[in-house]
Amino acid sequence: MPFSDFDERLAEVRGRIAAAVARGGHGQAVRIVAVTKTHGPDAVEAAWRGGLRDVGENKVQEALEKQPAVTGEAAAMRWHLIGHLQRNKVKNLGAFSLLQALDRPSLADAVNDFGTHRGEPMPVLVQVNVAGEETKGGYEPSMMEGESVRLRSLTGLRVDGVMAMAPFDVDEATLRRVFSGARAAQSVLRKAGHEASELSMGMSGDYEVAVEEGATMVRLGSLLFGARHA
Ligand SMILES: *Cc1c(COP(=O)(O)O)cnc(C)c1O
Repeated sequence: MPFSDFDERLAEVRGRIAAAVARGGHGQAVRIVAVTKTHGPDAVEAAWRGGLRDVGENKVQEALEKQPAVTGEAAAMRWHLIGHLQRNKVKNLGAFSLLQALDRPSLADAVNDFGTHRGEPMPVLVQVNVAGEETKGGYEPSMMEGESVRLRSLTGLRVDGVMAMAPFDVDEATLRRVFSGARAAQSVLRKAGHEASELSMGMSGDYEVAVEEGATMVRLGSLLFGARHA
């Protein structure tokens, strides 16, 4: 059976998250988003059986092909888009319950149009590029002050919080700097009047530090499902 050790992995992760919440002292609830990219619908079904209700995909096309193949109760899974979104694919956002990668003002405008036309705001997380990595998308932290105010006028989207990614293979001090920078961006959004209660940060290699720093969502792929297919 595929993903036969999924439940054990998940139990281990849940224990580590609880311990990290206790160490960090933020007292937050933490949601696990199972990152199913490159895996088949059986990964989504395994996540559902394990009690998870959120999956993350980084490509629109892959998610749209996978969704109809998911059977049984798992068809009620919530899908998060966690990767870069091209403007010509914004029309597909109806297939997702949360866009975690609102990474630039022009995309905010397009998502606003989408939400306005369907008559229901699109939930989003603002992706912040705290470490200033060239290879990653996201708002520069210095843009947050102005953009937070502007986003308030875009009633076709709803800012639920912040998403951030730490660089790979960095020391713990750098991880903490990135994650606390994401938290600072969240408080800028909240000061501007957004609900922004979510902090999505932490992947397989760094989720415990992220939870210590206040993450309310962790996005876990390889740790739950093993190595990704090409
Ligand atoms: C792939 C991906 C993840 C999961 O990565 P793992 O290291 O396998 O846990 C998390 N977030 C984003 C944005 C991703 O693209």
